Order: sequence, then C-alpha cells, then structure tokens
Amino acid sequence: MNTCDLVVIGGGVVGLTIAREWLLRYPKSDVVVLEKEQNSVAHGSGRNSGVVHSGIYYTEGSLRAQLCVSGCQLMRDYVSERGLWIDNCGKLLVPPSESALGSMQVLLDRGRANGVEIHQLTGKEALELEPHVNPQFDQVLFVPITSVVNPKEVVERIKKDVIEAGGVIHYNASAGSIDSKCGTVQTSVGTFESPTVVNAAGLFADQVAKRAGLKTRYSFQPFKGKYWKHKNTHFKMRRLVYPVPDLDLPFLGVHTAHNSHGEVYFGPSSTPVIGRENYKGLQGISWLDGLSLSASIVKKLLHNTNGLRTLALREMKLVRLKGVCNELSKIISGVGPDDLERSLAKVGIRSQIFDADRQHLVNDFVVLQDDKTIHVLNAISPAFTASFAFARYVLDQQK
Ligand SMILES: Cc1cc2nc3c(=O)[nH]c(=O)nc-3n(C[C@H](O)[C@H](O)[C@H](O)COP(=O)(O)OP(=O)(O)OC[C@H]3O[C@@H](n4cnc5c(N)ncnc54)[C@H](O)[C@@H]3O)c2cc1C
Repeated sequence: MNTCDLVVIGGGVVGLTIAREWLLRYPKSDVVVLEKEQNSVAHGSGRNSGVVHSGIYYTEGSLRAQLCVSGCQLMRDYVSERGLWIDNCGKLLVPPSESALGSMQVLLDRGRANGVEIHQLTGKEALELEPHVNPQFDQVLFVPITSVVNPKEVVERIKKDVIEAGGVIHYNASAGSIDSKCGTVQTSVGTFESPTVVNAAGLFADQVAKRAGLKTRYSFQPFKGKYWKHKNTHFKMRRLVYPVPDLDLPFLGVHTAHNSHGEVYFGPSSTPVIGRENYKGLQGISWLDGLSLSASIVKKLLHNTNGLRTLALREMKLVRLKGVCNELSKIISGVGPDDLERSLAKVGIRSQIFDADRQHLVNDFVVLQDDKTIHVLNAISPAFTASFAFARYVLDQQK
C-alpha cells in the first residue's frame, strides 16, 4: 500500500493543474498522479484547438463563466511568464446567417456581464483586422483577449512543475477499483491510499465515478471533433474567426484554428460517437459501452433532444469538403475544396455528459464529492483555458 496526501486519477491538464495547485498549497506533501497512457496529451489535453477562451459564451454566474474568465488570465500569465508560445491574436465572431444576429446580441450581453472586453465592428473594420473575414451582415464582434497557445507545450510544462515540486506521476497506471470511503485506488502499479482522491479521468470520469460508488443522474455522450487543414503552408490567418453559434446547440461551430507551426486548421465537427477514444476507424470502441451509447444516440435523434437531429443533419453536410467550404464561406472568404485536406492526426473527443432527469446535455462543469473522492465530470471546453482556476475551485471543495 502506497500512502499519500493526494491521489489524482487522470494526468491530463485538469489532473495536472490540480496536482500542481495542491503542491503550491502544501509544498511538502506526497502527491501521486495516475495516468493510464504513456503521456499526458493522448486525449483532450493534447487534441484541442489551443484557444484560450475569453468567457463570452457562458451564462453569467455559471461555473464555466467564472472559471473561464479567471482561468483565461491565469493561463495567459502562466504561458507568458514562462516564455511559451502564445499568439495574442484576438477573435472575430461573424454571424453566419441573418437569424444569428439575435444570438450575437445575447453574446455581447453575456460577455459584458462576465466582464470581457468586446468591440462591435463594422465589416470594413473587421476586414482591416483580418482580410479573410466575410462580414456579410456588416456586423462583427471582436474579442481582443482570446489567444492561441500550444496545448501540448503547456501541458508538458505543467507536468514539469508537478515533478519539480516533488509530485510523482505514474504513467501506464490505470486506476481500477476505488474505495471512496477508505480512499484507496487499485492500479496496475500497486494500491494507493489517500485522504483525498480526485477523479479527473476525462472521457472515463463517469465510469471511474461509478466504480467509486457515486450514483448520479448523468450518462455519457462523447462527440467527435474532426479538423480540416489548409494545404498551403503560406496561407495565414491573423485572427481567429468563429461563427456566432446557434445557442440552442452545445458547440461553437466550425471555426479557424492556427498553431505555433503556422498551420491553419478548420473545425472541429461535432459528431456523436459510440467510442470514448474512437479517433479513427473502429479504434477505441468497447462493444458493451458502444451498444449502450448507440441506443442512447438513437433515442436522442428520434426525440431531437438538445437539437441533436438538427446537429446531425448539419454534420452530414461536413462529410464532403464542399460542405465544409460552404459552412466556412459564411464566415471567411477565399477557401475552396481544393485548398483543404482532412487532418487525420488532429481529432478530438469531447467528454460530454447527459442529464437523464432533465433530458439535456449538461452545459456546465460538474464537480461532485463523495466520501474521500472529488469527481470532475463534464470537463468540456473551455476546461483547458479554465484549468488553473478550475484546480483552485476543485481543491476549495475539499470537506
Ligand atoms: C476537439 C476539441 C477542441 C477543443 N478545443 C478547446 C480549446 O480550444 N480551448 C479550450 O479551453 N478547451 C478546448 N477543448 C476542451 C479541452 O480540451 C478539455 O476540456 C480538456 O483537455 C479536458 O482535460 P482533462 O484533463 O479533463 O481531460 P484529458 O486530457 O482527457 O485527461 C484525462 C486523462 O485521464 C486518463 N484516464 C482516463 N481513465 C483513467 C484511469 N482509469 N486511470 C488513469 N488515468 C485515466 C486519460 O488517459 C487522460 O489522459 C477542446 C476539446 C476538444 C475535444
């Protein structure tokens, strides 16, 4: 039995920032992170757009609003102080249709209520900031604080902080059974006991919670996000360009995303999938889990729960490059099917949970505590941006 002060299950950005924050609070303590993969970036933490979000999307008072706004500043400071790559490019939000103008006003109000600096621009002003933007309704929002970082570089640096502060990260160590009352976790590398166990297992957080005996009204519904890449490495975007999203759907819509190598991507799509780690082909599908996820998707499509049928119809158009370009042409100009290729490497899956009582995809972070375990469920976007603030919040929940 290995006894320690904190055990964290999951070594992605959420688990690592929690371990780091604990070591900042209690410098001489024994902290162990258990990660089933051989690195920290195999899943969401290494497969996202790297956008440091401002917090304009989320309703005032929600956890996502609070933690995104404070996390955005903490992430920007962390990256800048350590000399990591950051592009302080800002984000343009373009209404893709006339009906999106109403949502644009909602975003403006939400953003201002959350204390985010936002500017309303004319089409001409938007074009001066980004020549590829398509301001078809002559109204564009500009959020200067939004930036882009290299998520893998950031996660590697947080990992280094944890190790330098004395934390131990066990890779290839999958957490099996958990006794939440005793605070014990069985793994392939031994049993760990601690007065505080944090479940930050991302795509498996609901299953880990179940194994720890937590009963909730939540089920799991993963959504795959695929990206397309601009073939021409000389094609550059000065700013991020996003559509004003359909606020009835839980995703931000296909947008531009550039990285530290100067590559420009477009995406991500939002397709419900039957495998938690189903990045390609039939990989990552466990058949029992897959069957239950399939049944639940069919039910949600039939009832158009959360506008999922509308979303599925929209997603079907993204199967062909022409469909992707059509979607993109509503917010940017000058990108055609011949310019794009599917990116096989850049695919991510969102760890989204579903509230069975309210029949709704859960729209906020969920943190639950049971005996000695704190469970981080629904670490959806912008959990990467929010991670430093999220870690403080999670540890403040300790009984
Ligand atoms: C396509 C896409 C784009 C996104 N873009 C953005 C963005 O631009 N900005 C932003 O802020 N957010 C974005 N997000 C969201 C962000 O990536 C996630 O919210 C964040 O990475 C969640 O981190 P995590 O540590 O909870 O999850 P993960 O990175 O999945 O880490 C959880 C870890 O737990 C491990 N694990 C699971 N089960 C066990 C077990 N039994 N034992 C031990 N270890 C286990 C897994 O191997 C994994 O490494 C995006 C997400 C997706 C999918």
